[in-house]
Amino acid sequence: MESIKAPRGVRDILPDESWKWAFIFGVTRKIAEDFGYREVHLPIFEQTELFSRGIGETTDVVEKEMYTFSDRSGRSLTLRPEATASMVRAYLEHGMASGPQPSKLWCAGPMMRYERPQKGRYRQFWQLDFEAIGSASPLVDVEVIALSLEIFRRLGLSNLEVLINSVGCPSCRPVYRSALQGYLRERFDELCPTCQGRFDRNPLRILDCKVETCRAITDGAPDVRDHLCGECRSHFDEVLQGLDLIGAKFRIDKRLVRGLDYYTKTAYEVLSGDLGAQNAVCGGGRYDNLAEAIGGPHTPGVGFAAGLDRIVLTMEQQGLSFGREPSISVIVVVADEAARDEAVRLLYELRRAGVPSDMDTSGKGVKAQMKAAGAAKACCVCILGSSEVSRGVVALKEMATGSQEEIERERVVERLAAKMKAACC
Ligand code: ATP
Ligand code: MG
Repeated sequence: MESIKAPRGVRDILPDESWKWAFIFGVTRKIAEDFGYREVHLPIFEQTELFSRGIGETTDVVEKEMYTFSDRSGRSLTLRPEATASMVRAYLEHGMASGPQPSKLWCAGPMMRYERPQKGRYRQFWQLDFEAIGSASPLVDVEVIALSLEIFRRLGLSNLEVLINSVGCPSCRPVYRSALQGYLRERFDELCPTCQGRFDRNPLRILDCKVETCRAITDGAPDVRDHLCGECRSHFDEVLQGLDLIGAKFRIDKRLVRGLDYYTKTAYEVLSGDLGAQNAVCGGGRYDNLAEAIGGPHTPGVGFAAGLDRIVLTMEQQGLSFGREPSISVIVVVADEAARDEAVRLLYELRRAGVPSDMDTSGKGVKAQMKAAGAAKACCVCILGSSEVSRGVVALKEMATGSQEEIERERVVERLAAKMKAACC
């Protein structure tokens, strides 16, 4: 029988990589605290309607990418393809509008989309998701964008580009939509089949088509900024001024429309120059009509989602540090069976004192245990044989220098704990 593998496009994050993720979570958690965002653990599946109504029926995510299934009682459920709709649902469901506004929330977790797997594109991938719900102020757009950039700054990422645009609101977007359709109608036959399909349903998406001929056509397309209503225009100007004020670099990109229907006004993306085709590390914007679309009262909001898998890939590509890889500091070596019980006692004393330590459990000889200590990159080994036990000492060997000394059994834990604190281990 063939052994069972993980589903296509789904991967295990193994220990060689997971410690890097833990580092990024640590940095993110501190930034969340610094900016006043509080963590929420959202469910991994929701009622399908949340996404079909929230994200929009004609988006790629809803049309092609959702994992939707019926549960045993026939309800339609969907594995979350993103977190924003869930966060707004949670905000509404728990009456967070009655607290201080905006509610500043974040979460991290896997998202599921049925996509063609390739480097940087998976069917289960992780996002860091930040949302500020309940404020229409452009200062909050600036805060959210600044927060995402602060994550990248503290991680040390370079070669990033911030693209920004405004996608208008329900009062000005239809005007732009018809202007765009008017322009594209003349050259409809030259559009790729996907864009021809988008022409009626979602013409704005034609702007970010990657096909050369479509790009050549849309190069001359009307610019959304020339069609914004007064309110969207001044909101956009204030966001740009705010970004200037905090020294954030950005480029206005008239093609940037984002794939989710709920965006209004600000839309932005952060691209990495080191990722090839899957180059977006972060995307976000304002979604003032999302709450209404899912049955709540009008509630403005703004947020972003950053792709963790792609952040790790970029950091590796740029040779950045993920801090110190956790490793065992001390290996307790049993020199003969008579000393095993005392060695086990020592091992647990070390662990209780917070000294990462381990010991062989398979009855290996001393030589093999020493070799394993080297392979584990332990900084010290504590050797215990019956002679050491009877004399109340431990032989402590420094792996780096090879020097060995005998230490009183009573003092060894304290000594190794101090060494750890001084980061010598
Ligand atoms: P893309 O254009 O790459 O498909 P997107 O616009 O669909 O991205 P968003 O919905 O904005 O992506 O999600 C935010 C971030 O999540 C992206 O910038 C990216 O870093 C990450 N992301 C999205 N889809 C995937 C995926 N299939 N695999 C890995 N990361 C992803
Ligand atoms: Mg996508």
